[in-house]
Amino acid sequence: MNGVETTVAAFPTNRLRRLRMTERTRAMVRETHLSKNDFIYPLFVVPGTKIKKEVSSMPEVFQMSVDELVKECRAVSALGLPSVILFGIPEKKDEAGSGAYDEFGIVQQAVRAIKKEVPDLFVVTDVCLCEYTSHGHCGIVRDNEIVNDESVELLVREALSHAQAGADMVAPSDMFDGRVGAIRQALDENGFTNLPIMSYAAKYASGFYGPFREAAESTPQFGDRRSHQMDPANSDEAIREVVQDIQEGADIVMVKPAMPYLDIIRRVKDQFGMPTAAYNVSGEYSMVKAAAKLGWIDGERVMMEMLTGIKRAGADLILTYFAKEAARILDRQR
Ligand SMILES: [Zn+2]
Repeated sequence: MNGVETTVAAFPTNRLRRLRMTERTRAMVRETHLSKNDFIYPLFVVPGTKIKKEVSSMPEVFQMSVDELVKECRAVSALGLPSVILFGIPEKKDEAGSGAYDEFGIVQQAVRAIKKEVPDLFVVTDVCLCEYTSHGHCGIVRDNEIVNDESVELLVREALSHAQAGADMVAPSDMFDGRVGAIRQALDENGFTNLPIMSYAAKYASGFYGPFREAAESTPQFGDRRSHQMDPANSDEAIREVVQDIQEGADIVMVKPAMPYLDIIRRVKDQFGMPTAAYNVSGEYSMVKAAAKLGWIDGERVMMEMLTGIKRAGADLILTYFAKEAARILDRQR
């Protein structure tokens, strides 16, 4: 846009409204197009069978047992969506989050079942300990401190066990230092050199995660996540976080949440030109759902505007609970 003032004629010769007069011309000059390939659909898996329990704060989002999850994955794939990301809720939680790196853990079982039944679906796994620890923190707690290096060792075990179960990509979401490099090294040493890592690179300590914690049953029992997740006021620090993850071998870098951090998405995309993901988080989803239910906004329209805005800001991939709904709308528009 540099030099735009001198290369464009002035009003009244120039009238910007000309190309807005009909949908035909609006479509012809549209700069941003959503595609199903942009979306990664998050799913929550729980132990048991025949379980499909709606998350009360997230309409149309369910905790599902593996059998139901496989059905859902068939439907997701039939809609033309390429990818899901899995979050697991284990049977038992303990201080060390051992369900996270158990060969027969809930996510490992789910990955095996999906890859067997819906092999074309690209299965990403979220790698963190908070759903698996009794205290709800993302790592090991010693003397009230969430310790870094010891937690990273467990995340490495978790990522490796997901890879061994058949995951197509692992996505560490913890925000500890050095975890991407450690996971990369372990994957490479175990024959997974072609398995990509999507790092939650700039993840903020956000109030927008509230409904997710109900879905993933991962609310911290004491304290909060401000010692590892980022301060919402910071932008330069996001760049340092992203640099660190790229240097350690991240293939895709993520900004989370999306909507209040569009400037961060744009900065990351402009500065690094990396495949960039944005997580359109639970709070963003639930706000739209709640306001639409009250008749205060047009939910579909706001959803599409939100997703378009995230893509326009520079996101190549959007993790979103809206994926199925948006896919149906994209089908209608064709
Ligand atoms: Zn976590």
